[in-house]
Amino acid sequence: MIFLDANASVPPVREARAALLSALDQTAVGGNPSSTHALGRQARRVLDVARDQVAAALSSAGAPASSKDVFFTSGATEGNRLVVDLLVEQGKKRGAPLVVVTTPLEHPSSAKSLQRAAARGELVLRLLPIAGEGVDVGAAVAAGVFVGCDAVVVTAAHNESGVVVDVDAVCAAVEGHVVVVVDAAQSLGRTGPPPARVDAVVCSAHKLGGYAGVGALLMKKRARALPPPWVGGGQENGLRPGTEATALIAAFGAACAVVDDTRRAHAALAPLRDRLEARVVAACAGRAVGASQPRLSNTSAVLFPGVDGDALRLMLDQSGVAVGFGAACSALAPEPSPGLMALGVSADDARRVVRFSLAPGIDDAAVDDAADRVAVIAKKLRP
Ligand code: PMP
Repeated sequence: MIFLDANASVPPVREARAALLSALDQTAVGGNPSSTHALGRQARRVLDVARDQVAAALSSAGAPASSKDVFFTSGATEGNRLVVDLLVEQGKKRGAPLVVVTTPLEHPSSAKSLQRAAARGELVLRLLPIAGEGVDVGAAVAAGVFVGCDAVVVTAAHNESGVVVDVDAVCAAVEGHVVVVVDAAQSLGRTGPPPARVDAVVCSAHKLGGYAGVGALLMKKRARALPPPWVGGGQENGLRPGTEATALIAAFGAACAVVDDTRRAHAALAPLRDRLEARVVAACAGRAVGASQPRLSNTSAVLFPGVDGDALRLMLDQSGVAVGFGAACSALAPEPSPGLMALGVSADDARRVVRFSLAPGIDDAAVDDAADRVAVIAKKLRP
């Protein structure tokens, strides 16, 4: 299988595997990090190390993040949901729903949670406009979208197209009291940590070389003033109750410790992505969605005009090329991707978009092999 689905899950780095195995052994007996006996304290030390490593990876230039601001979660879905619940809770506390600005490119875990809260009258939502294929922060400022808002929730990079959102421009556009939240699930270890102005960062281990089932929420400054919405056993300072997945967290920490290497490896994928994209687009008379914008170096979402999306899906899999269709987690969802449609793709065409996302370690030969296989299939399916 040629693996071109890294935005769904990046293969773990070897440091993460080693840390996982070691932590499994260290915490096999009595390893609940909340236990006060020696075995529990040993597990707690594993968490402490990982917390420092995650904080370091999330530190912005000139503004180190504190490990006290790192809260472990089960992944970015939970992080996004917790953020929405925090904002809703703050609205209840003040007696009026918060006004939240977001983008049409959010992952469903954020978008659907925000939309549901808005439908219930628990938040007021405003969308940043898209111009061409990018989020147009300048037009939003001109249209007064940020005026009177309480929070902004933006993804740093769109998981399907790789299109990058200008988080610096968003930060510059908001007033001092506004809580800025960034979903960095696709950007951490790729484009770098979010700028220092950002108050909360959502991330996920399996997108940067750790394992699925764990992630973190960095909560600093204005975000720390929001009232914790969940109750339980008091873990993670009461913000995210539930026994921590110590071994997975150790692996996540280890992946964070080599985040600079991961970022370099990711940047080196750009020429390979371009080569694949050029060959595939030429073979199918297609177009790369989002290619007019700054994008993640590893991602290419190609629209195959007129082809039967289901047949394409089946044949690519059978030919040994592992690709993504829409968000991996919503690949089985019947509705076409709202993110792709926001970027100007029609509902019908959204089903004809294949996401190629490269993982570090792939080489020219594998890329050419994949491009050849895709070209053969695309030609067969072309109307
Ligand atoms: N946000 C973004 C931008 C993502 O790409 C994903 C995963 N596709 C998530 C959130 C959800 O992450 P997790 O799998 O850790 O729940």
